[in-house]
Formats: sequence, C-alpha cells, structure tokens
Amino acid sequence: MTERTIWRDGEFVAWQDATVHVLAQSLQRGSLAFDYLSVHRTPRGVAAFRLRDHVERLVRTCQIVGLPLGYATEELMDACAATVRRNDGATSVKISALIPSIEVELVPQDPHVTVFIAAYDSDADIIAKNRGEFRRCTDLSLYIERDKTGRREDLVPPHAKVAANYTAAMMAKCKARAQGFDDIILLDERGFVTEAPTTNVFLVDGNGHLATPPAQKVLLGITRDSVLTLARAMGIACEERDISADELHNTRQMFLTGTSVGVWPVLRVNGQLVGDGRIGAMTAQLRDKYRAVVAGEEPDFEHWLYYV
Ligand code: PMP
Repeated sequence: MTERTIWRDGEFVAWQDATVHVLAQSLQRGSLAFDYLSVHRTPRGVAAFRLRDHVERLVRTCQIVGLPLGYATEELMDACAATVRRNDGATSVKISALIPSIEVELVPQDPHVTVFIAAYDSDADIIAKNRGEFRRCTDLSLYIERDKTGRREDLVPPHAKVAANYTAAMMAKCKARAQGFDDIILLDERGFVTEAPTTNVFLVDGNGHLATPPAQKVLLGITRDSVLTLARAMGIACEERDISADELHNTRQMFLTGTSVGVWPVLRVNGQLVGDGRIGAMTAQLRDKYRAVVAGEEPDFEHWLYYV
C-alpha cells in the first residue's frame, strides 16, 4: 500500500504528523465535531456513500456547537474525494473539525477550526477488529438503562455529532459491557427509546409497520434515512414515533443502523429472544437491499454513490 496521508486544512500531511497539542481546546473541552462515512468498491469505481449528506451533517454540527468552520460543503466533498484517491484501500473516511488553540479559556480568543480528513483501511486499522466484533454481535443483547434527551440546556442536542456527546453514551455502554451485554439502548426522560451510542434503532410493530424514534430525539443517521427511504420504496409502511421500552421488549423484529454496521439485526434484548431469535424476514430484506445499494447494484439509488 502507498504511504497514507491525511488532509489537513488544504494540504496532505503524513499519517503520523496529523496531530494536535495535548492542550488543544477540542481535546480538553470535547468540542471536536466529526462525521464518518463509508467507501465502497462498485462496478463503476470507488464511491463514497452519501458524501454530501455526511458533509452537510458535519456543517450542521459545527453550527450547533459554534465552531466557525471555514470551508464550504463542496470544498470538503472535494477534499474527501481527494483523500480517498490518495489512500488506496480506503474503506471509510473520518472528517474531524477541531479548535487547536491551547488557550485555557472555555471559549478561546483564537477560534480557528482545523479540519482533518483521514481514510481508514479496514485491513490495516483497529477498525478491522471492530468488524470482527460486529460479526460476533449479530447475536446482540441490549440493556435499557438511562435517559437521553436533547431538551435540557445543560445537555448537547442529539443532532450534534460532537465528541462531548459521546461521553455519557460511552459510560452507559461500558456499564452494559461489564454486565455481559454488547450494546445499550438509551431512553429519554419519559422512558421512551432514543438510540444506541452510535446507531439508530428500528423495530417491526404489531401491524407489520417499520417504526423508529422521532427525528428530534436522535442523531439523524444517514443509514436511518437510507433505510426509511428504501423501506418506503419497497411499499413498507414506516412510522417515526415514540417507542416504549415495553414495546421494544415485545417486538418480534428489531435492528440497529449505522455507517459501520449497515442494518444490524438484534436477536436478544435483556437476555430474552427477539421473536424466535432468528433474523426476521423484513430485517433480512432491508439488510440485503441496503447492501445491494452500497455495492452499486441498485440503479434507482445510484445517486447516493459519489464516485471519487
Ligand atoms: N446515532 C449516533 C449517536 C451515532 O453516533 C451514529 C453514527 N454516526 C448513528 C446514530 C448512526 O448514524 P449513521 O447512520 O449516519 O452512521
């Protein structure tokens, strides 16, 4: 493989040189905004999945958090494409926007935001281990535990993909892991389902409709939106609505969605089988459809692939 490089504010630097100071405001205060997207080898070439949507979500995160991002969407899309071209074997891309200033102030006087764009290679990076874990986690348990809401002033809104938003979720996931579960579903203050730490949640309800928690409560997952769009195109009725913990316990089909896992069937919740403990028909249908779309095998959804 060629020497890997990372895009930093308009230039490519060596992998090991893409660093920040330990006192960087974003590291100390958790203000790093990021987004993560997948890259696929398709019959028509290498493509980034829904690149514009991911970059637009990063721009929104920066607006919510108050990071003055100095780049237009198109500039960042071009930079992502260039990063993939420069790094053979890229399987995903992470864009990070951060304040490198080492000032001690919470809101630094130098608000300059540096953008880094890195391409992961699933064979070379730690992500390879994650993939193994994801395969194992097909048989997934969930632990329903704590509240999550973006309404309060002292909490970061769920739409912001900012580092600080992941601390509480990480603590919850660690607790679930310590009890033998693979992942955790976070509930809002009223006890309704929101999402897992890095994935959105879907279930098939008693009417055979696909249901997922409302947009205002969750990160607007690009995979979530893709699955809703695909399901509607397949004639499946979809609802974005409140889901209680009880409904989740009693559902016969359930799955999580995210860039790194696609459509990920959940086969157990709190130790109880979901349905008969096998992947349900609608879940399998949607998973296969999504896989075909990202592989470039679905002409109707070709517009979601951005050839680099
Ligand atoms: N929720 C959260 C909190 C996440 O971090 C992610 C991963 N980006 C998702 C949901 C799934 O989003 P996507 O489908 O865009 O990867």
